[in-house]
Amino acid sequence: MINRYTVIGQPIAHSLSPIIHQFFGELTQRRIQYTRTEGTAETFERIVLDWQTSGGRGCNVTLPFKEMAASVCDRLSENAARSGAVNTIHMHRDGNRVGHNTDGVGLIADLNTQMASGIQSKRVLLIGAGGAARGVVGPLLDAHPSALHIVNRTAERADALACLFDNLGQVSASGYEALIDIEAFDVIINATSLSLQGQLPPLPDSSIAAGAFAYDMMYGTGDTVFMSWARRQGCEVSNGFGMLLEQAAEAFLIWEGVRPKMRIAAPRLKALLR
Ligand code: NAP
Repeated sequence: MINRYTVIGQPIAHSLSPIIHQFFGELTQRRIQYTRTEGTAETFERIVLDWQTSGGRGCNVTLPFKEMAASVCDRLSENAARSGAVNTIHMHRDGNRVGHNTDGVGLIADLNTQMASGIQSKRVLLIGAGGAARGVVGPLLDAHPSALHIVNRTAERADALACLFDNLGQVSASGYEALIDIEAFDVIINATSLSLQGQLPPLPDSSIAAGAFAYDMMYGTGDTVFMSWARRQGCEVSNGFGMLLEQAAEAFLIWEGVRPKMRIAAPRLKALLR
């Protein structure tokens, strides 16, 4: 039997998830089929329900439906429940739809690969408070930064997000204007959709500590505008490709019960997708 999965988003044509999951299937000798599905706010719920009715075993959810996805699930994992954002739905055989968020685990796994000492005891700035940012706040705090600050165009969304997690660690929030009065950060993570439009978040240069690490969740060929800007400020930089692979591996584990060995998968997928 072939287990069927899909990724739902808008736009979705660019998604690399089908290639990644098909590769994971081959690597772990699981028979899976993974497709892309374009949705709208009006059609999203119907697409999920129809996917389940037609025998689908799960779906990934991407921009801009992660928050909407939480409401179509019967149960949520702890991080998905707290963040209110779901990127992985597992359709159980008993009919229940269980929502998870693997973005944070994926981000931390990639940061740990790229930064010798991870984010422990570092001052971390998270830019954005949308679906991607919501999923990573809990796992970021679990990694014990000395402080986590969330900045967002709509400051109220950043405030509300920080409030959801303030019993897990040192977390604060603001709009961009307030950054000028806040101490510089060692790790800066762009979780806005601005790179998709070739735009920069309006950060003051003073937000960046000497030798800071800048991470753009967006991925593609070459540097994003955010990465180019951060390089000019003297930062080490990364795009979100490693996070994409790691969050996918975590979703695969939830669905298929086996985590692809990233030591083997990551270099081969990097070569394949380049
Ligand atoms: P989203 O839910 O639509 O959130 C968008 C965020 O960007 C919000 O914080 C929004 O601020 C901000 N924003 C949008 N336009 C802006 C503007 N003109 N000026 C300032 N801020 C602006 O999107 P998402 O799902 O969180 O995704 C965000 C990014 O992360 C995308 O590039 C996505 O591809 C990437 N991502 C990557 C991975 C990975 O595995 N590498 C995983 C997830 C997401 P407001 O709240 O003020 O609207």
